[in-house]
Amino acid sequence: MTARHAYLTIDDTPNALSDGFLDALQKRNVPAIIFCRGDMMDQYPDTVVRAIRNGFVIGNHGYHHTRATKLGFEAACNNIMRADALIENAYRNAGVARPGKYYRFAYMDRGMGAWFVEPASVPARHYDYVSSMISTGLGNNPLDLPNAAQIETKNALQAFLKANGYTKVPFRNINHEFFTQSEMATAVDAMFTFSTSDWAMTERHRDKGIDVKALIDNDPHLARTDTSHIVLAHDQAEIHGVTIALVDHMISKGFKFEALHS
Ligand SMILES: [Zn+2]
Repeated sequence: MTARHAYLTIDDTPNALSDGFLDALQKRNVPAIIFCRGDMMDQYPDTVVRAIRNGFVIGNHGYHHTRATKLGFEAACNNIMRADALIENAYRNAGVARPGKYYRFAYMDRGMGAWFVEPASVPARHYDYVSSMISTGLGNNPLDLPNAAQIETKNALQAFLKANGYTKVPFRNINHEFFTQSEMATAVDAMFTFSTSDWAMTERHRDKGIDVKALIDNDPHLARTDTSHIVLAHDQAEIHGVTIALVDHMISKGFKFEALHS
């Protein structure tokens, strides 16, 4: 079995059960970048400090979990910086140097509504696949195309992140064409190349009947061994068991999870 390499990116930390969830990853030698929500960091500050000390990289997921499209430029900027201050503080309390500033937008909403990448930048032969990343991966409707003003907001937010020291996450060896040949390649905020759709296992989405293990087994791009993968999953107390089971499933299928900055 040829090893497939992947980076695990976790959104929505922390919550009351995050310590155990992160311990379960650590027990499996699975490193991760965890994108933390500011409102939850206010509630569980010790969990974030503990995660830093245990080697996890903390990314910014905004103060409150609201779509950037809904917030608009000014409020989205405030949302970024309010959480940034909490992350800065957590690294200080952990006594660890912050390795970098990384951002992931809530719902992967970068100001363009349903689309996380400029549709016009997606190579035609990958358009259907990226549409499936939007529908199955994120639960959005790919027919909701962004308008010019939304693309402008997205660009302004990219410039804002850059001006405030944010950079692309240093994922190595990402060779997916839908990534390298689209706007995903130049995005400052954290992208993904495969969503586990673990969110679909929450009570309010379970009626969608998505078979999340089958998604891993049948995805044509995730099958590739000549590129690393950026895997999106969640730290939500309700589905911790599901998410860990998916990680175990990937390990059993020959995935190796890589550390950043190694
Ligand atoms: Zn989120």
